[in-house]
Amino acid sequence: MNLFVEELLERKTLEDDKLLRLLDSEDVLLDESLHAAAHEVAADHFGKQVYLRALIEWSSVCRNDCLYCGIRRSNTSLPRYNLSREDILQACQHAYEMGLRTFVLQGGENPHAVEGLAETVAEIHASWPDCAITLSLGELPRSTYERLRRSGADRYLLRHETADADHYARLHPAGMCLENRLSCLRDLRELGFQTGMGMMVGSPWQTSRNLLSDIRLIERFRPEMIGIGPFIPHPDTPLGGHPAGSALLTLRICSILRLMLPDALIPATTALSTLLPNGRRAGILAGANVIMPNFTPKAQRSAYALYEGKNAIQVESAENLRQLKTELAAIGWRISASRGDYEESTQIATYNHV
Ligand code: SF4
Repeated sequence: MNLFVEELLERKTLEDDKLLRLLDSEDVLLDESLHAAAHEVAADHFGKQVYLRALIEWSSVCRNDCLYCGIRRSNTSLPRYNLSREDILQACQHAYEMGLRTFVLQGGENPHAVEGLAETVAEIHASWPDCAITLSLGELPRSTYERLRRSGADRYLLRHETADADHYARLHPAGMCLENRLSCLRDLRELGFQTGMGMMVGSPWQTSRNLLSDIRLIERFRPEMIGIGPFIPHPDTPLGGHPAGSALLTLRICSILRLMLPDALIPATTALSTLLPNGRRAGILAGANVIMPNFTPKAQRSAYALYEGKNAIQVESAENLRQLKTELAAIGWRISASRGDYEESTQIATYNHV
């Protein structure tokens, strides 16, 4: 085993210069060593059981204009939708019947629509009390987060995207800042949400030092969930001409974070599957333990185009589910029947301020 990987496995951290050497290495044997160690840690912690999350993209309406995002406000070529309460409940029912026990409601940042959504969240919570509800709705006032938490939401995903304030400013329009995003993450944590953060790998102007800062931020905050995906350009955005990020570097960082935070819930992201034909398998073999199949009604799915060529993971039919089970069985994993909540084992429980 590579010496740095061995040290990371043992100490769950590494000095900056060593992490940078891992990030910048061109040694393919390093990836083999990293992935094998991270996979073993995940397999050990999760008993080789993958958690499935039913992704429901409930709204493509967003007030923001993030420069990399296909559903940014200024992209007028995209049809916009809000799923109705009935559509959302129907998607949940479908996912429940397929055996999924977490619903993820994801959408653009749209504070005006959140009150209505909170009522639907309460209805989901009452109808399927054995399921977890995850939200991903962007930056909202603390009082709104509080309202959603009271309605029964358990988890919240808010990727920080980059831990460098200057880099953040280049990827986002004026008026958005890293400090506010971090403040939202602190609010979410304090309100008792299982909290998720993460970043794009290979976003324009990103350096290895930026990625090191991302890793350090995650290491300090210790989120329950970590979402890492490669940057994929969308042609109708200002950053549409930039090259996509590297799937291999994404997998490498996934492994590094698994070794640092053995208990974290880490999905093999849709973006990874978009760039790599065997992305979800590769993600699990690099330390991920979550897969998020898409349960958005088909009529709306193409309108939720965060980036070009988005390759949704599907288990809508018994046949899809059987294929997924076969794919996982080939690497010795199976699907968990549980909600897949975060469970701490060896991690340090303290929350360090970011
Ligand atoms: S990244 Fe999120 S907040 Fe930014 S434009 Fe896209 S949906 Fe809106």
